[in-house]
Amino acid sequence: MKTAVRKATETAMQQLKRMQRDSGRFKFTAAKVEKMAGRAIKALTTHLKNGEFQPVGYEINFGDGKGFPPIQVDIDAERKIFITGQIDRVDVYYKDSETSYVKILDYKTGNKNFNLLEVYYGLQLQLLLYLDAYLKLNHAYEPGGVFYFHINNPYVTYKVGMEEEEIEKGQMKQFKLSGLVLEQLDVIKALDKENTGSIIPVSLNKDGSIKKGSSIATTDQFELLENHIIDAVKDLGTQILEGKVSAKPFKLGEKNPCQYCNYSTICQFNESQPDNYFDKLENLSKEEVWQRIEREKEGK
Ligand code: SF4
Repeated sequence: MKTAVRKATETAMQQLKRMQRDSGRFKFTAAKVEKMAGRAIKALTTHLKNGEFQPVGYEINFGDGKGFPPIQVDIDAERKIFITGQIDRVDVYYKDSETSYVKILDYKTGNKNFNLLEVYYGLQLQLLLYLDAYLKLNHAYEPGGVFYFHINNPYVTYKVGMEEEEIEKGQMKQFKLSGLVLEQLDVIKALDKENTGSIIPVSLNKDGSIKKGSSIATTDQFELLENHIIDAVKDLGTQILEGKVSAKPFKLGEKNPCQYCNYSTICQFNESQPDNYFDKLENLSKEEVWQRIEREKEGK
């Protein structure tokens, strides 16, 4: 595996201009990327070896004339939204001849974590939107889980006498998937058969029950969440079509998109100016999010 990663890094380097290639700074970055890629691949392989899910597709495109057609969301009979995108990887667990579960994986270089509250507020639509689109194309499958996989360079605090195995374990923990898992023991075991606790955001108690705090959802809840995000996309589309495009950034706790925005000098949003205010979102527990989503269904 090491050789394959080295070859891939070298091939990528060959595509750069000689001057860039030969700079010390670039050589350092290339070595770092090579190490990062090697560790990430090792973690991905470990995840697969410890489960029953098998990859069935990589870089699955929607729209742009490649792969599948764009994801279509109908606002009403005349107005439609077409979304383009790419699912980094799809795995399937073939439980028996009639039941199969899908796992959607998105690779991230930043530290984005799955957050149910942000999904609820329409701030994290991608994973659930991809799951919904994939399930609509493959009606025989059921949701198994949606995850972010962080490609990073994990550091472990070294303690004198630490064995290499312990260091590796520490590194592996930092590659733990962030996402939402189907609340079903056979699927949980198909994702992490030894219940290592360092692959998926779900842990089991000694008696085999699911530990409190695990990131889980039932099949019905997955469906409710998919419907909820489709409604959120429709709502966003309607607002844009109605010309509602004023700068009204969200604020969730202290988090807001203006903190790292490249366009702040153009939009000039400033809370001290009249009519410039944040859309303050209420902080809710996971239980409250599910209750609200369930109430939405009843209200329909
Ligand atoms: S700075 Fe302006 S453009 Fe950027 S996130 Fe805030 S409101 Fe939006």
